[in-house]
Amino acid sequence: MGTNENKDYEDVCMICHRTESVAGKMYKMGGMCVCPDCMRTSMDMLNNIDLGGGNFNFGNFAGGPWPMPGFGPGNNQAKAAAEGENAADQQVEKAEEDKSADDSATKTDDLSKNDENKPDEGEKKEEGNRGVPRFSFLNLGDFGPEMLFGGNRPKVKKRTEGERKPLVELKDIPAPHKIKEELDQYVVGQEHAKKVMSVAVYNHYKRVATDTMDDIQIEKSNMLLIGPTGSGKTYLVKTLAKMLNVPLAITDATSLTEAGYIGDDIESVVSKLLAAADNDVDKAEQGIIFIDEIDKIAKKQNHNSRDVSGESVQQGMLKLLEGSDIEVPVGASSKNVMVPTTTVNTRNILFICGGAFSELDEIIKRRLKKQTSIGFNAELKDKFDNEKNIHLQVTIEDLKKFGMIPEFIGRLPMICGLESLTEEMLVNILKEPKNAIIKQYQKLLRLDEVDLQFTEGALKAIAQKAMEKDTGARALRAIIDEFMLDIMYEIPKDENIGKVTITEDYINKKGGPIIELRSE
Ligand code: ADP
Repeated sequence: MGTNENKDYEDVCMICHRTESVAGKMYKMGGMCVCPDCMRTSMDMLNNIDLGGGNFNFGNFAGGPWPMPGFGPGNNQAKAAAEGENAADQQVEKAEEDKSADDSATKTDDLSKNDENKPDEGEKKEEGNRGVPRFSFLNLGDFGPEMLFGGNRPKVKKRTEGERKPLVELKDIPAPHKIKEELDQYVVGQEHAKKVMSVAVYNHYKRVATDTMDDIQIEKSNMLLIGPTGSGKTYLVKTLAKMLNVPLAITDATSLTEAGYIGDDIESVVSKLLAAADNDVDKAEQGIIFIDEIDKIAKKQNHNSRDVSGESVQQGMLKLLEGSDIEVPVGASSKNVMVPTTTVNTRNILFICGGAFSELDEIIKRRLKKQTSIGFNAELKDKFDNEKNIHLQVTIEDLKKFGMIPEFIGRLPMICGLESLTEEMLVNILKEPKNAIIKQYQKLLRLDEVDLQFTEGALKAIAQKAMEKDTGARALRAIIDEFMLDIMYEIPKDENIGKVTITEDYINKKGGPIIELRSE
């Protein structure tokens, strides 16, 4: 807190923790800043205090790490002043306690209630506040010295004045086919998803770059990715963000709750993006937010129980997806008195939601069966039962049945499915992408001047093992790491080894790798 020497960062009010851009020009006192609202409230409070004959507890310094002469329960003067007035005091005290119990909404009341819970209550009663509403303006004990006087508080970068520069200039936005080409280098298969994403991202950043071109508002192209776990949803988004060099935040919808419940507030997704953008609001406002496991916030199918938590999180996210000013905590997942906040507009943030939607398949199958049971196609009824990529035929109706509210789906206009990975695709994932796992191991061993090779059979055996685990490409890494451990441990022992070939038998634990010695 305090005034910033670094002019790139904003001042933050020491009382409400809003930044200067939100709260207005700060009053600076020594090393501290107070916003106009808090200054006015403090002045009003001071005016309302009858100081005649009593003493008031301006701040509860008792809990602070430093003793403050003249304040707090340890203060003899205060005790002396209170002597003989205990009876009257206690009455006043009680009236105030009742009052604060009635109204716990304001910050000052909250703090004064905290006061009452302190173990030294008896002693405090002796202090005596006759005729003075007992209030604690600030519990300075809550503030560490570093919180009060600068230190590690997160700071928000100042916003550029006037017209903001787009993060990706219009001329620099790669054309959709270029975006797809880049994605092809890393992501195997998922042709349709890559195409949809390339176009969506291209349009999105065109929209951002030409914000106020004319009256025609280009709609936001938020996306919903539906695909089994480990099929590359997160990976696609990560690759895109890296390629465009825009900040990316990846969060999980399961941890989100309505404000006031245990868990992360909905705004926390934006504060993560702000952190990813080094607290630069201008940058964050053009970033990408990926919310995984979005299917976990579907309305419960069971109509008997009234569980609305998922639904209300969806409701809470509407304004975020649509684009509005969101007050977000800086450097924390929920707002509280100790955390500065700033305002981020989500209008130009690209939201991509992803989920496995595993029970969606049944809903789609039921719909398709219903369609085919009418008329001449009736014999095709069980045709869908073994179809692995049934989720690619998803419609908005299916998603509504699944438990997504229509307003929520309406704000994700691009819906696209990712295929389940086949054995063949897994083999390709092992060897083809730019940073394929096998290439990484080969590079490591090349540093020891050892040539590492895998037979086609070995790659297939790894893919088969991964298929059994049913976690998509995620399983590959674990399997390969397990048997490469011995190789990575043993090979550097013997300097004569020049080549190692991993065979199918080695993967299936029926034999060892083929080791060839260096030819001098
Ligand atoms: P999810 O669909 O559950 O979000 P991820 O994108 O996190 O899955 O995939 C896990 C890992 O598997 C990625 O880090 C990536 O290395 C690999 N992977 C998954 N799908 C693909 C794919 N289609 N092409 C290349 N690698 C992939």
